[in-house]
Amino acid sequence: MNRDKLQGMLVGLAIGDALGMPVEFKTRGRFEEVTSYREGGPFNLPAGYWTDDTSMALCLADSIIEKGGYDSFDIMDKYTAWISKGYRSSTGKCFDVGNQVSKAISRYAQNPIVSSNEEYVKAAGNGCVMRLAPVVIAAIVSNKNIYSIERYGMISARETHLSHVAEQATGLFASFLYIAATEVDAKEKIKSLIDNAPDNEEIRGAWKNVSEKSIESIKPTGYVVDTVEAALWAFLTTESFKDAVLKAVNLGGDSDTIGAVCGQIAGAYYGLSGIPKEWIDALFQYDELLDLANKISEVKNFSFIRSRFEIDEKGPGYSDARAEEFEKMESIV
Ligand SMILES: [Mg+2]
Repeated sequence: MNRDKLQGMLVGLAIGDALGMPVEFKTRGRFEEVTSYREGGPFNLPAGYWTDDTSMALCLADSIIEKGGYDSFDIMDKYTAWISKGYRSSTGKCFDVGNQVSKAISRYAQNPIVSSNEEYVKAAGNGCVMRLAPVVIAAIVSNKNIYSIERYGMISARETHLSHVAEQATGLFASFLYIAATEVDAKEKIKSLIDNAPDNEEIRGAWKNVSEKSIESIKPTGYVVDTVEAALWAFLTTESFKDAVLKAVNLGGDSDTIGAVCGQIAGAYYGLSGIPKEWIDALFQYDELLDLANKISEVKNFSFIRSRFEIDEKGPGYSDARAEEFEKMESIV
């Protein structure tokens, strides 16, 4: 596997976050165009610093590296440590957290188990997709197929977003990241996957022909379908990491997260070697991010360890027979 592309996926996430940070919540066209890092934003951060998107991705990375697989409880413990103690925050404390993430983490503190009859919600913020890269990297190096990678994306979304749209959008984006990191004609393949794959009418409608859309029709909101659409638009209509990510963050609105989502896919496609050196050099904790990307790439047997969802094969009450069932499902090509 091409290590450069996997490194690019995680470092690209943080760079997109840091580039979008200063113009978060601003209206397109009403701020000085972003061309590189700058200080400021709603949390008044230094230039090159990143926000919750990267903090959550680092929590996921740490958990996957420590556990060697996907452990639903450990991941939630790390998100909890981020909120309560500033674990993996760029400033030492948690300064921004989305609604759904915050609710899910409070709920986890009261009861970590999610029962089989838990109701799905309509809300679908982009917090589920902004942090995705570590799961996809671990799944790729462990030779998971595209269906398995999509499923891991959905599972990682569900921890904080028990929403069908959030799960489907994140699962699909996970499969796009896989394609971007592994296929030469990735852009064409992603377009055809959008046209053919999604069972979800709303997602297909929104992402279909995204590269032909005008800037006016791209909505830089925190809704997961809009965020991925904006990130795909920026990625599919440009020819370099730099142009893609700048196009994404200059949409304003939820710019840091649109930047983080675009940065993942552009980083996976162009690789770390395709990212401008000055952005790598000035990124907060770049060495740490690179080290984490490398350590995830050494997790060779990434698998599902434990789930807090009763509905799962490996949920509370998990048995070996159900584990076998899950392994079988994973090996379907
Ligand atoms: Mg953020």
